[in-house]
Amino acid sequence: MSVLAVRSLCKTFDGFRAVNDVSFAVARGEFLAMIGPNGAGKSTCFNMINGQLAPDSGAILFEGQEISGLEARAVWRLGVGRTFQIAATFASMTVIENVQMALISHAGEIYWPWRPARSLHRERALCLLEQVGMHEAADRPCRELAYGDVKRVEFAIALASEPRLLLMDEPTAGMGPGERNELIALVKKLVVERGISVLFTEHSMDVVFAFADRIIVLARGQLIADGTAADIRDNERVRDVYFGSGKTFAGAAP
Ligand code: ADP
Ligand code: MG
Repeated sequence: MSVLAVRSLCKTFDGFRAVNDVSFAVARGEFLAMIGPNGAGKSTCFNMINGQLAPDSGAILFEGQEISGLEARAVWRLGVGRTFQIAATFASMTVIENVQMALISHAGEIYWPWRPARSLHRERALCLLEQVGMHEAADRPCRELAYGDVKRVEFAIALASEPRLLLMDEPTAGMGPGERNELIALVKKLVVERGISVLFTEHSMDVVFAFADRIIVLARGQLIADGTAADIRDNERVRDVYFGSGKTFAGAAP
């Protein structure tokens, strides 16, 4: 059984079909990239899967259970994690406190701000930070971190809830090519170790071709291709969408 199965998903904004009859599946342990030009409908798909947006029609099955229309928190509780944008980490809190908060939340414990939570889950938080290479910065406030380091902390926070499916919408946005490769390599290593399935979007074709097990391509709200890196590289419709006909993906990274 697929971890995630999306069937005939549709979403219209003011008469504009942002997502039009999209179907795909994520297999257990798969590292699946969704690519497509800006405005293709990728984020809209992600937001429907994670419960932030209700689809107009279609089905979203997580481990066989229908989740479309559930609230974001309910989807997260079932085991669908996502990486949050920078604003979601508490800038004034330390790196380890952010991870501890995530562990507290996952354990269903109540966090009382006036009661010191310093010792709660500290060992486990340190262990997660070590895995993303951020343990030495554990006691620094998040606001002092370099951008790429915040992304690592966000990834540790996402792992804290032990998701079985992780949704990552442009996890490397704003990063240079070297940093992108490093972060995705780290993500892939840690999710493979844990057997977590991943659906991610990424602008750099080099990164996608290097790391994705399989690639699906959206254009104007529709799924136009589904295959391995080699299939996608040779796919004429995909080339047309990205470059007009006749060109290849060589040097396609922005
Ligand atoms: P992508 O992530 O592939 O760049 P999006 O899913 O963000 O694409 O957007 C797909 C299309 O839907 C775009 O044309 C965008 O302008 C439109 N869109 C997305 N969200 C909204 C919204 N909340 N209201 C109106 N239009 C939206
Ligand atoms: Mg987007």
